[in-house]
Amino acid sequence: MEGLFIEYKDPLFGIIIFFALLFTISFFSYWWGRFKTKEDEKSLDRFIKNFHSLPTERELDDILSSSTLSLKSLYLLATSYIQKGDFEKSIEIYTAILDKELSTDDRKETMFLLGQSYLKAGFLERSKELFLEILSRHPRTPSALQFLLIIYEKLRDFEKAKEVLEPLDELDMQVAKDSMYLNIVSMQYDINLASDEKVQKIITWYQNNHQLGYMIFEYLFKQAPALAWKNLDQSLCERISDILWNLESHQLDLDIISSNAYLRELYSAKGLVNTASSSSIFELDVLINLQSKGYQEADLQFEYLCNECKQVFPFSFHRCPNCLGIDTVQNEMLLTKSRFETNLSFT
Ligand SMILES: [Zn+2]
Repeated sequence: MEGLFIEYKDPLFGIIIFFALLFTISFFSYWWGRFKTKEDEKSLDRFIKNFHSLPTERELDDILSSSTLSLKSLYLLATSYIQKGDFEKSIEIYTAILDKELSTDDRKETMFLLGQSYLKAGFLERSKELFLEILSRHPRTPSALQFLLIIYEKLRDFEKAKEVLEPLDELDMQVAKDSMYLNIVSMQYDINLASDEKVQKIITWYQNNHQLGYMIFEYLFKQAPALAWKNLDQSLCERISDILWNLESHQLDLDIISSNAYLRELYSAKGLVNTASSSSIFELDVLINLQSKGYQEADLQFEYLCNECKQVFPFSFHRCPNCLGIDTVQNEMLLTKSRFETNLSFT
């Protein structure tokens, strides 16, 4: 009988006990992990269900002063406020999170989100301080550098913005477009350059680079329409339709318009020339037909799509307000009733 049992002094007995313990610990650790995840998910679900509408001021104070909600739920709540455009509440939540005991990564993440909320709320100085603080602790953070660049740009501190390009470049980020964009914007705001010097410099710059066309021709048509027409890159006509459409009749160059099929259609649709009888663009075709029948109460309006993030805005932009992409604007025509109705008859 004795041979059937391993004596407790036997080294094999120790090894078996060791593996049995290892298995038990691994099993409980796995089970505890699964249990915690499920509990977290349940708590998050409960939280979402409780807040079909966002909490009141008082409820929010209670939430932030207690520690019942997980970090994940607090982030979710802050995001809900951001989606509603209430950045002050998201700032309140992120600030409260920063008062808690946090891991290095969570603190960095929360500071980053707070910096973004400050930026969206228009508190540029506070946002700048926060991103500088993140970078003092974590210098190799490209996203923080990119936000810092945008803050300097909004503060019109273009020299500082250009300085940020250097570390971004060292981190292998694409900075060529940002660099060109900052050069053009800083040139426009340069108080040491006369207006006609700026116009000439920008024309030369475009001739050499053929980039940022929308932004450049918007500036040129505003500052010096005759020079804008003279230097117009006609491949851009469709892209800058809104700029061309909104020019005053005395600002038009009829020679260039008559030499370009798209411009003939655009200005025939507006009723300023009569040199096109149709257009392959639906909105222009409708307007040309209405013009030919003497109906002048229709007009065009534009909305603006970002080619990167596909968000639509009622205003044009050079840097997308949503994804912050440069030169991503694309105009979309909208047929509308003219705001200046002159020939309405009630008889
Ligand atoms: Zn965008």
